[in-house]
Amino acid sequence: MPHNTEIVDVDTDVLVIGGGLAGCMAAIKARESNLSVTIAEKANTLASGCAGSGIDHMWAYIPEVHEPMGFTMDDMADNHARVVARGFVNRDILRLVIEDSYQRMLDLEKFGLKFRFEDSTQPGKFRVVHQFHALPDTFNFEGRRVKVYLTKEAKRRGAKIYNRVNMTELLTSADGHVAGALGYGTRDGRIYRFRAKAVVTSTGRVNRLNKTWTDVWGNHRIPVSETGDGRAMAYRAGAKIINMEFLSPARFSIGNFELNLGSPRNTVQPAGSVVDGNGRVIVPRTRFYPWETLDKGKVDVPAAVAQHLENTAKTHLNYHKLMMEGQGPFYLDLTGGTDEEIRYIEWSISHEGKGPLFLEHLHNHVGFDFRKDKLEWLPNSREMAGTSSSGLLVDKNLESNIKGLYAAGDEVGGVPWSASPGAFTMGWRAGENAAKEAATMKALPEAAAETLYRLDQFVHEAKSARGGQHWREAELAVQNIVDHYAGNHRAEKMLERGLTRLAELRELIRFHSANPHETGHCLEVNSLLDNAEMVLRGSRERKESRLAPFGFMRADYPEPNDAEFFNFLAQQKNGKGANFSKVALPR
Ligand SMILES: Cc1cc2nc3c(=O)[nH]c(=O)nc-3n(C[C@H](O)[C@H](O)[C@H](O)COP(=O)(O)OP(=O)(O)OC[C@H]3O[C@@H](n4cnc5c(N)ncnc54)[C@H](O)[C@@H]3O)c2cc1C
Repeated sequence: MPHNTEIVDVDTDVLVIGGGLAGCMAAIKARESNLSVTIAEKANTLASGCAGSGIDHMWAYIPEVHEPMGFTMDDMADNHARVVARGFVNRDILRLVIEDSYQRMLDLEKFGLKFRFEDSTQPGKFRVVHQFHALPDTFNFEGRRVKVYLTKEAKRRGAKIYNRVNMTELLTSADGHVAGALGYGTRDGRIYRFRAKAVVTSTGRVNRLNKTWTDVWGNHRIPVSETGDGRAMAYRAGAKIINMEFLSPARFSIGNFELNLGSPRNTVQPAGSVVDGNGRVIVPRTRFYPWETLDKGKVDVPAAVAQHLENTAKTHLNYHKLMMEGQGPFYLDLTGGTDEEIRYIEWSISHEGKGPLFLEHLHNHVGFDFRKDKLEWLPNSREMAGTSSSGLLVDKNLESNIKGLYAAGDEVGGVPWSASPGAFTMGWRAGENAAKEAATMKALPEAAAETLYRLDQFVHEAKSARGGQHWREAELAVQNIVDHYAGNHRAEKMLERGLTRLAELRELIRFHSANPHETGHCLEVNSLLDNAEMVLRGSRERKESRLAPFGFMRADYPEPNDAEFFNFLAQQKNGKGANFSKVALPR
C-alpha cells in the first residue's frame, strides 16, 4: 500500500522506548548480550525526562550503613510497604529494587557519577540522609549530569540512539508477540518503523492531564514531554494498565513558579520546616543521623519505625483543609538552619533539576536569603507521578501480558515511590530480560500493516487539513474535562458525564498541524485522551476514599473500605470500552 509519509525502517533485537533513567539503564544492560539495541527517544537522552536537569538523591539498602544498625532488607521492604505505600505495592518488584539498588549505585559510580565526598564522616564517605524510610538510606549524590553520563555509557556500549522520535504505536504479531513499534520524527516529519524481537517501554509518567497554575508548561518542574504515551500505546495494543485512578490532588509547594525546591523530607532537609502565618511550626525540621553512634549497638528498628510513622503523620498535612480553617498562609522556613546546613541544602537544590534556576532567581534577582527570608508555600498542579502507582501491570520479570513487552521505571504500575532507584533497577532488569527473550527468537516477528497505515493517515490528514484544531486547543479541552469531572472529589454521575464528554471530544477533534513539531503534539493529545479515559473509568470503578497514600476521594463513597482498596485495578481495552479485573494484594 503506498504511503503519504516517508518511512524509515530500523531493525533491532531490543527496542527501548524512552531514554530516561530506566530506558538508558535497560539499553546499557541489554548490550552486554551483544545483541543490537536501540533507544527511541522523543526528546534528547542527554537532557530528557524527570532527571533531565538533575537528581540529587537515591534510596538504597546500603550494607555499610544498615548492617551495623541491624536494619535488614526485610525491614526495609516492610517499612516501604507499610509506611510509604500503605500496603499498596507489588512486593516482588519492591524486593528487586531493594536488593539491586546498591549494586546499581556502584554501576553509576563506574559510569562517572560522584557518590563519595571527602568531607563525609559516614561509612564509605557517602552522604546518607533520611527520606522515605525509618532509617537514613538515601545517598545524596552529584546527579546534575546523570543523563549525560548514562547517554555516554549507552553509546560506549554500542546502543543506537534515535532522538526526536515520538513513539506512538506498538506493533504485535499475529500470535500476540510484540514485534516493534512506530514513531514519528518531530524534526524530520518521517515515520520510523522499528522492528524488534523484544521491547522495553519506559516513557515515564503522565503529565499535562490537568491545567497548571502558571498556565505555562515550560515554566515547570514536571517534564513536558511525558504524556503517558507508553501506557496509551500499550493499552491500545491490549496490555493491562493498573491504578490509573490515582491522579493526585493538587498539593502545596513553593510559589507558583512550580519549580519547587523540594520539601522538608527531601531536598531542603535537614533545616527545612513549614510554618504558618504566625510563625507556628506545622511541619518540623529533620535531624541528621548521629553517625558517631553507628557502631555502638543495633538500632531499635520497631521503635524507629514507630517514630517515623509519627513523623510522617506530621509531614503529610492537608493544606487545603488547613487553609479552609483559616490557618494559611504557609511558608517554607529554613531560617533555623546553621550556615553549614543552608550550604548543604543549596548544594542539594543546585543538583536537583527542580530548583537551580529558581535558586538563581532568588539569589541574583530578588535578593532572597534563606537565613532571613521565608518562601510562601502555595498550591501546585496535579500530577500522575511515579509515586502514584499507576502504569503497566507486569510480572516479577517486568514482562507485561503482551509477550516480549517489558516495562521499567515510572511506567510500571504498583511500585509507589520507587523513584530513581526504581528506574535504575527495573531498567537494568528489564533490559536483561528483554535481551534474553530476543536471544530465543530466530527472526523478527511480522506485524500487520494496519497500524502503520493508520499512523500514516493520521499524519497526512493533520498536515493537509484546512481549518481544524490546533493541538493546544484540543489539549485544553482534555484538561478541562479531567479537572472538572475527575477533580479532587469524584462521584459516579460526574465521572460518567466526563466519559461522555471525552467521547464527544474525540468525535469533534480534527487536528490541523503546520509542521512536524506540531504533528508530534497532536499525537501526544491522542495519548492524553486515552489516559484521561483510563483516569475517569478507573475512578468510577474504585468505590472508596482515603487520603493516604494517593489522596483518592469519592464523594459518594466517602469512607475507606479495605476490601475495595487492597487491589490493583487493571483495565484492558475492549472495543470502545474496557474490561476491569482486580489483582488482590496481600495484607
Ligand atoms: C524535577 C524532578 C526531580 C527529581 N528528583 C529525584 C531525586 O533526586 N531522586 C529520586 O530518586 N527521584 C527523583 N525524581 C523522580 C525520578 O527522576 C523519576 O522517578 C525517574 O526519572 C523515572 O525514570 P524513568 O526512566 O521511568 O522516567 P524518565 O527518567 O522521566 O524518562 C522517561 C523518558 O521517556 C521519554 N518519552 C516520553 N514519551 C516518549 C515517547 N512517546 N517516545 C519516546 N520517548 C518518550 C521522555 O522524554 C524521557 O526521556 C525527580 C523527578 C522530578 C520531576
